[in-house]
Amino acid sequence: MLRSASHHKIQNLTTDMENVRNVIIIGSGCAGHTAALYTARANLKPLVLEGHEPGGQLSLTTLVENFPGFPEGIQGPELVENMRRQAGRFGAQYQLGHVSSVDLSSNPFTLHLGKERLYTRTLIIASGASARWLGLPAEQALIGHGVSSCATCDGFFFSGKEITVIGGGDSAMEEALFLTRFATKVTVIHRREQFRASKIMLDRARENDKISFLLNTVVEDVYDVSQKAVTGLKLRNVATNQVWDLPASAMFLGIGHIPNAKMFGDQLETDADGYLVTKNYVFTRVEGVYACGDVQDRRYRQAITAAGSGCMAALEVEKFLEARGT
Ligand code: NAP
Repeated sequence: MLRSASHHKIQNLTTDMENVRNVIIIGSGCAGHTAALYTARANLKPLVLEGHEPGGQLSLTTLVENFPGFPEGIQGPELVENMRRQAGRFGAQYQLGHVSSVDLSSNPFTLHLGKERLYTRTLIIASGASARWLGLPAEQALIGHGVSSCATCDGFFFSGKEITVIGGGDSAMEEALFLTRFATKVTVIHRREQFRASKIMLDRARENDKISFLLNTVVEDVYDVSQKAVTGLKLRNVATNQVWDLPASAMFLGIGHIPNAKMFGDQLETDADGYLVTKNYVFTRVEGVYACGDVQDRRYRQAITAAGSGCMAALEVEKFLEARGT
């Protein structure tokens, strides 16, 4: 009984190993699709694992006006769908599924998707970073309708309006400052009295006449789901417990991003905030494993830079496989 079970196991493993891929790409945002396009055109038949948020952060935004090549702008979901179709035209394959863990200790690498195992000679990690949200039901319902985590993407839509920014770090200050280009008034709402933001960013925000601060304040609710638009926030002062409504046309979250790198455990190097550390743009410490896009970029975080690094990772995969004669 035991013998036949282990025989069966070995047989399965042999079948699995026959299905070793040249390249698997984790993530289907700008970086993942671009890596897929390049590796598909190099005839490597990439497999893209789409993850929990297919399309990545672009799929959460509306009009994208800063991706070159679209003089009138393009909707984020349409842009990312175009990228997917373009890669698909050259043979990239897509599979929905979330990678729970990986084994990078030997090549081919092993990826675990629930009970399924996938094997690959090279791996491109384009798993991105997810915006941190407050977690309120109304907030989630109004994403794209006045709730946003990207000032550069959506700020323009609130020209001449009064808007709010949540957070007390550099991202919140940067968003608030950027949004003063459009808004008549920006209120930064922060849950404490002390800021995490650097002095220089905080000073800049404080010196801007359009920016005011509400400290020790948390958001309890966002109005108004029935109108499919943000009309105001229900706020609470955590020191006094006073609750009041603040009219506003938008709520921008600047409370940080969470890089999607947990699945690699300690097999790859991460910085203090969990971003993958890369050298020479896309190299991780494991040969044959490359990282691109927001999972390794805490500085630029743009669709175009993510696409650029996806291209770099794909070109390195080609070189790696070529050198090994695969
Ligand atoms: P961060 O420094 O971690 O700040 C996040 C802020 O959001 C904190 O003030 C935090 O409040 C607040 N926050 C977190 N969860 C919250 C919640 N559930 N409800 C309400 N508030 C919440 O993140 P970041 O601002 O994105 O910055 C990340 C890194 O990138 C930092 O190292 C930063 O210096 C860097 N960065 C630099 C620049 C620049 O130099 N131009 C721009 C952007 C980012 P608490 O303070 O109470 O925890």
